[in-house]
Amino acid sequence: MKVAVLPGDGIGPEIIKEALKVLVALDLKIEFEQAEVGGAAYELSGHPLPEATTRLAGGADAVLFGAVGDWKYDHLARALRPEQAILGLRKHMGLFANFRPAICYPELTHASSLKPELINGLDILIIRELTGDIYFGQPKGRRKAVDGPFIGDDEGFDTMRYTRSEIERIMHTAFKAAQKRSKRVTSVDKSNVLETSQLWRDVATQVGKEYPDIALDHMYVDNAAMQLVKEPKKFDVLVTGNMFGDILSDEAAMLTGSIGMLPSASLNSKNQGLYEPSHGSAPDIAGKGLANPLATILSAAMMLRFSLNMESAALAIEQAVQRVLASGLRTPDIHSSGTQLVGTVEMGNAVVAEIR
Ligand code: NAD
Repeated sequence: MKVAVLPGDGIGPEIIKEALKVLVALDLKIEFEQAEVGGAAYELSGHPLPEATTRLAGGADAVLFGAVGDWKYDHLARALRPEQAILGLRKHMGLFANFRPAICYPELTHASSLKPELINGLDILIIRELTGDIYFGQPKGRRKAVDGPFIGDDEGFDTMRYTRSEIERIMHTAFKAAQKRSKRVTSVDKSNVLETSQLWRDVATQVGKEYPDIALDHMYVDNAAMQLVKEPKKFDVLVTGNMFGDILSDEAAMLTGSIGMLPSASLNSKNQGLYEPSHGSAPDIAGKGLANPLATILSAAMMLRFSLNMESAALAIEQAVQRVLASGLRTPDIHSSGTQLVGTVEMGNAVVAEIR
């Protein structure tokens, strides 16, 4: 098995180093190869996603990705900004399904802004379609309005679109994921208003008939946003389109308190995937040893499970993280009175020690 390691910018190299320590401690048959991406790659070669990095990622079984971006690159043309590297990799690898688990560890219930009884034991999985929808639909652009009450005025427009095949593909992914969990899927749309969503709901229902073991329900996105903070534990797998998923997955992320705890995976149809923490490059704390490496370590566990078919090693990492939290160690983002404050490296070492 081959893993492309792309640390990137800001805290990326620090947190990737800890995740690699954990993977090495498991003594698995994995070959790691590292390359530059984002601002680090731009500094070296003038592009955030050099050809060599794209080739390495495309040829690997999985990509372990840190984070990219820094405000110092804000002046660059959009195509040269570090964040473009993620879009380029998604496109090159055909990554269409984004998995974002939101798990609330009992030791961290205090870190959520919701009441403990609402999130204690929370374990939901948001699956977001990544390649279609209003973010990529054509036509889009600026023009002068040709109708409506403001003819001749400046107008911005985008096109929301999904094909049947794109919806079928993400629905199969969601139903298969639910088969390994509590066997419930909630499909989120806005079919009371949008044609795209009506097709989404029709296709979701049709694909659902192929999975009689899974209970499917449908929810409008406005209600889903409300239910996520009212009664989040009633969800198991929530599947939705690119834009609704972008918003709902960030909302669900905050249910658990700290962004430093949240892994993510983006998969293609061959289960090749890109694994990264849900957070960014955190330039405000980069190089200070303060970053929480657990989101990246948990992303590495997802990588073992989904792309490398190493379930027991994935579980070993997740259980080690749980034991480290139970022992009271905390990086600053999840620290509270009565717990022991540690830095990035100590947290990584503690997970390695639990695994050993
Ligand atoms: P961010 O996620 O980097 O940081 C938001 C806040 O969370 C900051 O206060 C940061 O210190 C904190 N934080 C983030 N990760 C943490 C961790 N592991 N441990 C402890 N605290 C952590 O978001 P931002 O500040 O809006 O963006 C910074 C840069 O990251 C920007 O250039 C942005 O474009 C980029 N970004 C990259 C990705 C990615 O690589 N996938 C995602 C989001 C943002």
